[in-house]
Amino acid sequence: MLIGGEWTESADGQCIDVEDPATAEIFTRVPAGSAEDIDRAVSAARKAFESASWARMRPLDRGKIIENIARKIEEHAGELALLESYDNGKAVHHALAVDVPAAIDIFRYMAGWTSKIGGQVNPISGDGQQYHSYSVREPVGVVGQIVPWNYPLAMAAWKIAPALAAGCTIVLKPSEVTPLTALRLAELALEAGLPEGVLNVVTGYGQDAGQALVAHPGVDKIAFTGSTRVGKQIVRTAADDLKRVTLELGGKSPSLIFADADLEKATLGAALAIFFNSGQVCLAASRLFVERSVYDQVVEGIAKVAQGFKLGHGRDPETMLGPLVSRAQQIRVLDYIEQGRQCGAEVVTGGGTGGKDGYFVEPTIFANPNRDASIVREEIFGPVLVATPFDDVEEVVKAANDTRFGLAANIWTRDLSRAHLTARQLQAGVVWINTHGMNDPSAPFGGVKESGWGREVGEEGLLHYTETKTVTALLGE
Ligand code: NAD
Repeated sequence: MLIGGEWTESADGQCIDVEDPATAEIFTRVPAGSAEDIDRAVSAARKAFESASWARMRPLDRGKIIENIARKIEEHAGELALLESYDNGKAVHHALAVDVPAAIDIFRYMAGWTSKIGGQVNPISGDGQQYHSYSVREPVGVVGQIVPWNYPLAMAAWKIAPALAAGCTIVLKPSEVTPLTALRLAELALEAGLPEGVLNVVTGYGQDAGQALVAHPGVDKIAFTGSTRVGKQIVRTAADDLKRVTLELGGKSPSLIFADADLEKATLGAALAIFFNSGQVCLAASRLFVERSVYDQVVEGIAKVAQGFKLGHGRDPETMLGPLVSRAQQIRVLDYIEQGRQCGAEVVTGGGTGGKDGYFVEPTIFANPNRDASIVREEIFGPVLVATPFDDVEEVVKAANDTRFGLAANIWTRDLSRAHLTARQLQAGVVWINTHGMNDPSAPFGGVKESGWGREVGEEGLLHYTETKTVTALLGE
C-alpha cells in the first residue's frame, strides 16, 4: 500500500490473494488494510492537505503535475492494460482501447481545470450601505474514494483526477478483487511529481478498510462507485458526521429499438451495450425493448452476434469476452440464469459456462420474461439480457422506467423528434441516441433514483470536490 509516499505492509501483516480469473491461479498478494492503516493514510492525507507544497501550489503547477500523470499513463499503457487483464480478466486489447484511454483523458481534461476554478461577485445591496461580496470555491479537504472491480484503473482515474484538480488530498481504496492498477497508478503519480501524501492507496476488504474510511472523522467527503446495497450502507455510516457523499451505483438500463431504426446498427449496438466487458458494466443495457413488428428479427440478430463473440483468455488477441472477475461473480450470474429458467422465460441463446475452466459465462438472452422476475428487476452484472416486445412509445417508456434504477438508456430510431421526446421521458442520468456508452471527460455521468447521487467527470464532477465560501464585507455608505 502507499501511505505518505512510502510503500508499506498492513499494520497487522494480513494479505489478500490476487487471482487471474481466466486460470484461477493466484499470482500475487497485496496487504489487507485495517482501520489502523486507514488512520495512518488519513493522517498523511491531512498533513499533505495542509502543507504549503500542495495547498499553496500555483494552480497552473498543479495542472502540470496532473498532465504529467496523463503522460505517464500513456507511456505505460501496455503494462497497465496487461495488469488489468491479469487482475480483472478483460481482454488486453479492450483495456488498451477503453480503460487506459479513459484514464489518460480524465487526467488531461482535469489538468486544464486547475486554473479555471473561479468564483463570483455577489451583487449585494441594502439600506444605503455598500458591500463587497464574493464567493469562492475551496477544496473539500481529505477525500475517501472507494472503487469497484469492473474498470479498476478507469474508475480510480475518474475519482483521483477531479479531486487533485480541486486541490484535495486522497485516500483511495480499490476493490479487494482488483487492487493492482490503482497501486501502479499511484506509483506513476509520484514519478509525475505529485507530492507525497497527496494520494494514498490502502488495499483491503470493504467491511474493514472501506468501512473504516467511511467512518473516519478526519475524512471530509466520500466518493463511492459500487453496488446500490453498499452505497446505502455508506450513506448510513456517513450520516454520523454528515460527510459529503457522492455515489455512482448500479443500473438496469434499457435499450429501446423502434422499427424505423437502422436495424443492423441497432442490433450490434444493443448486443455490445449488454455483452461488452462480459456485462460487468454499470451502464450495461440489460433490458431490451423492441417494437413488435421487428422484435423477432432483432432478437435473432442479437443472438447471432452473441454466438459470434469469442470467449477466452484476456491475453488472446482474438478474445472478445473474458471471464467474469471471480468465482463468486460467476456463481451469482449462473444463479440468476437458473432463476430466469425457473420462472419460465425462454432462453434464446447461452445460459452456460461455454465449457471452459476459468470463470466464464456465455452471453445469454432471455425472451418474454415475467416483469416481476429477478432477471428483469435486479442488476445481474453479467452477460444476461432480457428481451420484451412493445407496441407504442407510451408503453415502452412506462416499462423502461419501471425500475428502481436510473443510470442510462439508449434509443434507436431514425425519427429524431421521437428520439428526443422519448429521451425527455426516460428516468436516467444518461441517454444515448443511436449509440451506447459514448462517454467523454466533459460530459457529466451518473444516475437518478437508486443509481446514485451527484455526477462524475465534467465540470459538475469537479465541483463535487469543492465547497463554496461566501465572503461579504461592509464597505460603508
Ligand atoms: P461493491 O459495492 O461490492 O464494492 C465496491 C467497493 O466498495 C469495493 O472497493 C468494496 O471493497 C467496497 N466496499 C464493500 N463494502 C463496503 C463497506 N461496507 N464500506 C465501504 N466500502 C465497502 O461493488 P462491486 O461488486 O465491486 O462492483 C459492482 C457494482 O459497482 C455494480 O453494482 C455496478 O453497477 C457498480 N458500478 C457503478 C458504476 C457507476 O459509475 N455508476 C461504475 C462501475 C460499477
